[in-house]
Amino acid sequence: MVLRAPGRPLEPADLADPAPGDGEVLIRVSACGVCRTDLHIVDGELDEPKLPLVPGHQIVGTVVAGGERFDPGQRIGVPWLGETCGHCRFCRSGRENLCDAPVFTGYSRDGGYAELAVAAEAYALALPGDLADIDVAPLLCAGLIGYRALRMAGDAERLGLYGFGAAAHIVCQVARHEGRRVFAFTRADDADAQRFARELGAEWAGDARGQAPEELDAAILFAPVGEHVPAALRATAKGGTVVCAGIHMSDIPSFPYALLWGERSVGSVANLTRRDGEEFLALAPTVPVRTHVTEYPLERANEALDDLRAGRLRGSAVLSIA
Ligand SMILES: [Zn+2]
Ligand SMILES: [Zn+2]
Repeated sequence: MVLRAPGRPLEPADLADPAPGDGEVLIRVSACGVCRTDLHIVDGELDEPKLPLVPGHQIVGTVVAGGERFDPGQRIGVPWLGETCGHCRFCRSGRENLCDAPVFTGYSRDGGYAELAVAAEAYALALPGDLADIDVAPLLCAGLIGYRALRMAGDAERLGLYGFGAAAHIVCQVARHEGRRVFAFTRADDADAQRFARELGAEWAGDARGQAPEELDAAILFAPVGEHVPAALRATAKGGTVVCAGIHMSDIPSFPYALLWGERSVGSVANLTRRDGEEFLALAPTVPVRTHVTEYPLERANEALDDLRAGRLRGSAVLSIA
């Protein structure tokens, strides 16, 4: 499924099989998660995609050929961080997520809305064996980015999650496993998301624009809504942290300094490191994380994107590739 130009639906296309180069593997894709970032790319809010582009950066598949790290037939995952330069100041200081010259899967290189994909083997991830392909796919971005955001929230006991979609439904399980208390903030009328959050262990779920039931120690913002930043600061106790976990967000309205005062902080999470991937994929089976997935055949990728845009999904959308 190919993006020819932003703002247009993906088109089915019969492309030449990709060929792996040095250090790359060819993968037969079995499942690919649909991420909000894909929506930002398709809608033109992230404006430097390669074109035409095969989107998709939560790839699960088996190795067909190439590389030395994985055996043919082995199941692997390919996340958003496709490759880094290895020598910029960020790469050299353990911050490859901030690399100056990164390659992103399904953005600057073709991704997994396809039957075959090529990936740099050093950036691919071995996958835990306890989940089916379709169920493990959302761990590769929703899970990884959510995990990185949770780590940035420190040891916060009372954790607010703004937006309860693919990432939050995974983070909620990890946070509960760690003994944290979870509060889910959704659109006022989204009773289903609120019910879903409570089912996964949130002790409260309600209107993101209303009053929080009690002070939070940290908040993670998954919904790409700038108004949530001052709202989350207002809900956060002294010393609290507000983490913006999305790659794109509407403008943040101005707010009085008093909301930030008291050693509150606002930060963002950008991309992931391979270490995040390895840590989270080792942690997930111990929780154990169980993803809630709506499955679409590859050729219905536009429908999956529309359902994500409209907030009709519970958990994650995943494309299955026969
Ligand atoms: Zn670099
Ligand atoms: Zn993503």
